[in-house]
Amino acid sequence: MKKYLLLICIIVLGAHTLTAQDINKKFDVFKKQYIEVMLKMSPEYATMLGNHKYDGLLYIPSQAQRDKQVKFNKNWIDSLHVYNINQLSNANKIDYHLIENQCNYSTWYINDFRTWEWDPREYKIFEPVAYMLTENYKPLDARLLSIGNKLKNISAYYRQAKLNIKNPTKEHTALAIEQFENSIPIIETDLLDSLAKSKLPQITKNYIKRNADSAVVAMKDFVAFLKNLKNDNPRNFRIEGDLYKKQFQYEIQSQYSIDEIYAAAVQRKEYLHTEMEKLAKQLWPVYMGNDKMPENRLELIKKVIDAISVKHTKPELFQQTIEKQLPELTAFVKEKNLVYMDPSKPLQVRKEPEYMAGVAGASMSSPGPYEKGVSAWYNVGTLNGWSAEKAESYLREYNDYVLQILNIHEAIPGHYVQFIYSNKAPSIVKSVLTNGAMVEGWAVYSELMMLENGYGGNTPEMWLMYYKWNLRSTCNTILDISVHTKKMSKEDATNLLVKEAFQQQTEAEGKWHRVQITSVQLTSYFTGFHEIVQLREAYKKKMGNTYNLKAFNEKFLSYGSAPVKYIRDLMLK
Ligand code: ZN
Ligand code: ZN
Repeated sequence: MKKYLLLICIIVLGAHTLTAQDINKKFDVFKKQYIEVMLKMSPEYATMLGNHKYDGLLYIPSQAQRDKQVKFNKNWIDSLHVYNINQLSNANKIDYHLIENQCNYSTWYINDFRTWEWDPREYKIFEPVAYMLTENYKPLDARLLSIGNKLKNISAYYRQAKLNIKNPTKEHTALAIEQFENSIPIIETDLLDSLAKSKLPQITKNYIKRNADSAVVAMKDFVAFLKNLKNDNPRNFRIEGDLYKKQFQYEIQSQYSIDEIYAAAVQRKEYLHTEMEKLAKQLWPVYMGNDKMPENRLELIKKVIDAISVKHTKPELFQQTIEKQLPELTAFVKEKNLVYMDPSKPLQVRKEPEYMAGVAGASMSSPGPYEKGVSAWYNVGTLNGWSAEKAESYLREYNDYVLQILNIHEAIPGHYVQFIYSNKAPSIVKSVLTNGAMVEGWAVYSELMMLENGYGGNTPEMWLMYYKWNLRSTCNTILDISVHTKKMSKEDATNLLVKEAFQQQTEAEGKWHRVQITSVQLTSYFTGFHEIVQLREAYKKKMGNTYNLKAFNEKFLSYGSAPVKYIRDLMLK
């Protein structure tokens, strides 16, 4: 590290003699090195990203290891600050910010957020192991050997984990126990089954088997430890005050404060309810005939939504319906000139792979930054084997209108189109340190953008169902901020989701569970959306008569998966 620091100093001391191109070339080398060493410090993260150089590494989660990481972060920030950001290209300016943010985030995560003390899920070694076992990125024998090496020090690993845990939250502990118990068979059974098929020499097989056996013993012991833990003073699951503020700052990287985002979400909810009331009144006679209209606007809206939701496809036609919509979406984007779509990269649709079955109706699988030559897929699920009742409830949720919005969000011009653009501006920093709020924000923005341009024929039904869909991300934000920073009760949370966002009771309960286990992530959809809409307004003003929607969309996407605030700086400059 010292050696490296010295090298950078020499380079930049001579900066006035270097051209801007030279400086950017140096920075390109610098940032690649950072990502590589950073991933080596976090081998599990590397594995999940598809970088398999460090599959066999396992660090003992000791204070010495954490100190090493903190020191590493400080050294890289020092090296980074030697660069003058004003001399960097636009793409490198953003990467500079991302590296700085990641170093500060990592140190804060260790020193202040301290999940290593209160969230036993920190120690889910079975996750990368399951990935190595099931993903076919290398021959089985090579993957088994990596697993064997990874599990070599597993007893010491869990001995340290037990020392680390202090007053964990009840919610995270319960989930950890459940996840460990469900996953132990991956090592106890699946790994040994694979080992039986392997052509490795017997001595190597014995080595892997020995380490796998130790892993099972250590994981079972960790579960027993969690179950018997004397935890009279468990930590509250709510991430309050400065911790929540910092987590939001590092993970979302928004130009807005939490209070500003909260106010914007509450205002959006009010706007959506007002618009939905108008539409529901207009639609009432069509769907409800002479029935008396409820006085309460939320009841009125709910009744009309329920009546419209019966228009849905049949379980056996679910996949076909989705596939049929994709060329229609592409044609619409083209006809209305919304964003250029590379015709040489058509969206490939596939039946949902086995291991995803039953998870979602449709989802994008995009290859990770290290998975070269792997294509992106649009996974479409089947409802085969579902009970009639379950299928009916699902199809009402994903009725004829919402299914189209889902396709916009996941595929065209949502996640899929954004993915193609981010691939055109390749940056390993942006691929590894992807900004989730930008990615989700774009998908949510693209729904609005399509409807504004007349997608769905501007019918009141389409708009009403879009507003209901948009209420979900809006209320997710209100929920997350309220639960973590405003002590919102379960009852108030359920009321918000069921009464004000028109969700099913089961969906609301799932959301309550999720908000206890995660923080900030639920705010990313609305925050990104809000920032993009605000940016578009400002850009419109700046461009005056020359403003053009297609140009805005393409320029926005051209910066890659970066925080909206940095794209904003560059677009409004
Ligand atoms: Zn039905
Ligand atoms: Zn999404």
